[in-house]
Amino acid sequence: MVARVDELTNWRVIGHEWAVRGLARSLATDRVAHAYLLTGPHAIGKTTLARALVQALECTGKNPPCGECATCQKIQRNRHPDVQIIEGVPVGFKFDEKAPPPPPRANDRERRILKIDQIRLVQHDLSRAPFEARWKIIILRRFEEANDEAANAFLKTLEEPPTHARLILTARDASLLLPTIASRCQVLALRPLPIEQVEHALVERWKVEPQTARLLARLSAGRLGWAVRASADRALLDARVAHLDALSGILREGRAERLTRAGDLAKDTEKLPELLEEWLGWWRDVLLIQNGDGTRVTNVDRQELLQEHAARFSLEQIQAALKNVRATAQFLNQNVNSRLALEVLFLNLPLVN
Ligand SMILES: [Zn+2]
Repeated sequence: MVARVDELTNWRVIGHEWAVRGLARSLATDRVAHAYLLTGPHAIGKTTLARALVQALECTGKNPPCGECATCQKIQRNRHPDVQIIEGVPVGFKFDEKAPPPPPRANDRERRILKIDQIRLVQHDLSRAPFEARWKIIILRRFEEANDEAANAFLKTLEEPPTHARLILTARDASLLLPTIASRCQVLALRPLPIEQVEHALVERWKVEPQTARLLARLSAGRLGWAVRASADRALLDARVAHLDALSGILREGRAERLTRAGDLAKDTEKLPELLEEWLGWWRDVLLIQNGDGTRVTNVDRQELLQEHAARFSLEQIQAALKNVRATAQFLNQNVNSRLALEVLFLNLPLVN
């Protein structure tokens, strides 16, 4: 029995059709792997797919994953006693079984560590038979955050998993994990969704207003999870507007004003990676328009200003801006003085006469 694509709508996963098809086929032929590793950029749908797989494995309804049986519902709400989602704790957080769980991640860039104590707890839990479902399933998110101690401890579980256990790891990229970990998992490398698919899903499923959906889909670069979150969190879009306004301001300003602005923006180092990412997107758009490729721009809500910059700046100026913004992002990654890095960048950006 081989599941056809039109039989897979019950998975309710948007995109990643090839992965869903493959998993459904493994389920239908009873050849589900002991461990999966789902890789891809943040907010691309790894955990969503993992949860759908868990539902498909545990579902007690007619057409797994039915999404409606008590089991599917509990899994959806993270309330199933045999299913656990584990991820790293904040740096410096003292992990303790009885301590309250750490707060949710402040943003995608927050660094966390998956610790050996967490792995030990997982192993203890896996050693017992399931309470009510067929399998005990652990989803370990962002496994690249596991330190060596934790990864090595987990390797033992991967080598000899209990027969009632299924393991699902997620990570940005398989190369960030110990090769011995990745090689013991069936790897599904998820890719960004087509922009049109994200846009369509935002309108149809999340009822986002079409114009906003169009912009969010492009800003998301095919990461549906990011787009959905941004559609519900106005602050994300407001920050982008402020960052782009800052850039267009700088391009009209003289030396002294630019230095003042660098000092102001450097105060909020948390926001700088996002800001530079958006500026990179801006200059890429300017380049696209200059190349006559304007239909592919990301910042669809600012076409007029993009056109203006494409007309005013030379190819060399645009390429230099791209290079300098990228270099600044790298410097900041290496913990250089952020004010100094911004000053150098701002003084090097071209001037709108
Ligand atoms: Zn179900």
